[in-house]
Amino acid sequence: MNLTMKVMLGMVLGIIVGIGINLTGLNVDGSFVNEYIVGFFHIVGKMFVNALKMLVVPLVLFSLITGVCGIGDVKLLGRIGSRAFILYMMTTAIAIATAILIAAGLGIGKGMNATTTAEFTGKDAPPLSQVLIDIIPTNPINAMAQGEMLSIIFFAILLGISLLMVGRKAKGVVELIEILNEVMMKMVSIIMALAPYAVFCLIAKAMADLGLDLLAQLIGYVVVLIGALLLHLFVTLQLVLKLFSGLSPKIFLKKIRNAQVFAFSTSSSNATIPVTLRTVTERMGVNNSVASFTVPFGATINMDGTAIMQGVATVFIANVYNVDLGVSGYLTVILMSVLASIGTAGVPGVGLIMLSMVFAQVGLPMEGIGLILGVDRLLDMVRTAVNVSGDAVVSTIVAKSEGKLDLAVYNDPEAGSFDTDDVHLDLDVEREMAQTVDSTHSK
Ligand code: ASP
Repeated sequence: MNLTMKVMLGMVLGIIVGIGINLTGLNVDGSFVNEYIVGFFHIVGKMFVNALKMLVVPLVLFSLITGVCGIGDVKLLGRIGSRAFILYMMTTAIAIATAILIAAGLGIGKGMNATTTAEFTGKDAPPLSQVLIDIIPTNPINAMAQGEMLSIIFFAILLGISLLMVGRKAKGVVELIEILNEVMMKMVSIIMALAPYAVFCLIAKAMADLGLDLLAQLIGYVVVLIGALLLHLFVTLQLVLKLFSGLSPKIFLKKIRNAQVFAFSTSSSNATIPVTLRTVTERMGVNNSVASFTVPFGATINMDGTAIMQGVATVFIANVYNVDLGVSGYLTVILMSVLASIGTAGVPGVGLIMLSMVFAQVGLPMEGIGLILGVDRLLDMVRTAVNVSGDAVVSTIVAKSEGKLDLAVYNDPEAGSFDTDDVHLDLDVEREMAQTVDSTHSK
């Protein structure tokens, strides 16, 4: 069984065990199962997510510097950046527009009597001006410590360009960073080898905690939202892929599965960056010079799934509270969602914070968000998988358009598939390394 199959198996078993615990009521506070078994799932799952997050900053830094140096042409870099940006914004706008049309067409939430006990306090939108200013870090180490992706991207690109300008003298540094990038990729492989168990734990814990009764109450909202997400993933994004690159959506959908499962189980595009990067470069043949930029950039600014949630939620809550937003109201929602996605990072639950910004703008009641809060955990998982798929689609299109996609790799079903041999230690190499280090020390 290959890794993807094992991860899928972990996911399915996680769903079964988690829902089993939930339905049998074993998840009540203080019970043995909840304290120790679900508690154990929680610990293993969180450790795994931490391990993924641990890799994000160094991986983005090294791969992007390597990528910039690998392009060797600053103009091309600008083209890749602007193409990716336009495609990211375009897909997000399409996503939310379709979501609004579907939700409004079906009239979800009409005639529903809303009572909510959950509290939700909104947040103020960071003004776009501040988002722009913050792209340039005053202290790159601080930006890395805080995981501020746009600042890290900026710093890495500038560093890469400067290394190119210094030229031959900097060759050693570039080579070192290239090696470090390879080492980081190896760390991704080690962590991926543990994924089947971790994914099981993450999903079992999430499902055990799920408010299934709440899910039943909001069934209309949940079904329409998941339907719109699947439509975007399987139809819209695939049409965009075919139209702009001519590549086969079938192959894409098969190869993206691993990244989707990681996104689904971690609910974080950011934490999934290592896996997305590995998937698009090694499975799909996107050159690192494109992917090292488009993947972290997309994880930060591109959120198609989140936009769809905002569209459906806006219509739903407007209907529940009998507010008529009108065409201009909905156009504002589209614009606001696209803008909000630029300034917020892909981490769990951020979609609701963005929604509160949108609501503040169009004057919908903030307590409406309390209504959907209880089911958001599950929906966050699904929409994050869509977010990450959108990042991969755009990365693939941009790479193809610049001649930076290896078609042979894309079309090879086995290319880059995970092999456990990837993570084995070679005893001879180990000994040789030890001897070299030893002899340098004793000199
Ligand atoms: N969890 C999502 C992501 O990381 C963002 C959200 O919709 O809350 O992409």
